[in-house]
Amino acid sequence: MKHIFAFVWVAVVCFAGLGTPAAAQHAPKQHPPIIDMHLHALPAKGWPGGPSFICPGMEFAAFDPRGKWDPDHIWATCPNPLVAPASDEELLREILAVMDRHNIVLAATSGSLEHVRRYRQAAPNGILPGLNTAVANLGTPDSLRELIRTGEIAILGEIGPQIEGISPDDEMLEPYLALAEELDIPLAIHVLSFQPYYLFPQNRATLNNPLLLERMLVRHPKLRVYVMHAGWPMLNEMMSLLFVYPQVHVDVAGIDWLLPRKEFHRYLRGLVEAGFGKRILFGSDAAMWPQVIGIGIEAIESADFLSEAQKRDLHYNNAARFLRLDEKGQLQNKPR
Ligand SMILES: [Zn+2]
Repeated sequence: MKHIFAFVWVAVVCFAGLGTPAAAQHAPKQHPPIIDMHLHALPAKGWPGGPSFICPGMEFAAFDPRGKWDPDHIWATCPNPLVAPASDEELLREILAVMDRHNIVLAATSGSLEHVRRYRQAAPNGILPGLNTAVANLGTPDSLRELIRTGEIAILGEIGPQIEGISPDDEMLEPYLALAEELDIPLAIHVLSFQPYYLFPQNRATLNNPLLLERMLVRHPKLRVYVMHAGWPMLNEMMSLLFVYPQVHVDVAGIDWLLPRKEFHRYLRGLVEAGFGKRILFGSDAAMWPQVIGIGIEAIESADFLSEAQKRDLHYNNAARFLRLDEKGQLQNKPR
């Protein structure tokens, strides 16, 4: 299960509630609702071999291959590093506090079954369960079918076969894609050229090309797919896929706080101005660092090229339509 941490390059610790006046804590409830399509339920110390902190929006340092790889080198000059909470309990408490603070009414949440269960027990109405695991650990199609039938899994993903060196169009994924199509649950697939080769030796930039999803889309025309991280930085390829396959959506998780803000806005603007404002979903990719949720929300709020209506689409309306929520904002087939 170590691989699951490979997907998590995005998040911040929210100290909401600590030293905040009670009135201020309740004020954000006035904010309109938000859906986070990309949350992770992981252990607080869940990233063996990964950086000990993250640094939203910073430039990425050069690496001299004569030296020994140090996962912290990427943000070596970070002025305000974010570190994970000390315990799983504290992490969950902070995640829920941030959700409450920003009025996040639903979060597509993936991790191991065990951790997703913990999150659902703590917030039964706010957590839409997904499965974040290595391809080899997806189980048999029959065992996965049972998890979907019993409501343990409502979204297939985040899966990120590329990080394991497996192409998204590899035949080994076929039975799982067919199952997601048959049972009509969304596929959430990681497409992002970021995870460094030194940290994830099987990862390949070439496997993170959005056009590698084309074969699955042709084979499974009813499959509801959202491309996590919007395929950054392959904007042209992402737009090609969105044009040809109008059922495809993207989330902007991770890139909304990980990248320098100007680059995130350039990429987002490219998608919106090409006409895909109805196909973009907000996501945080928060895992061990709850504060990144707020940074990601603000990254959309601060985009001066978006109208207020477009911001609402990204923060809520597009996901509600993609998930087929009813007029009360409830799932029509709620996981048990
Ligand atoms: Zn990912």
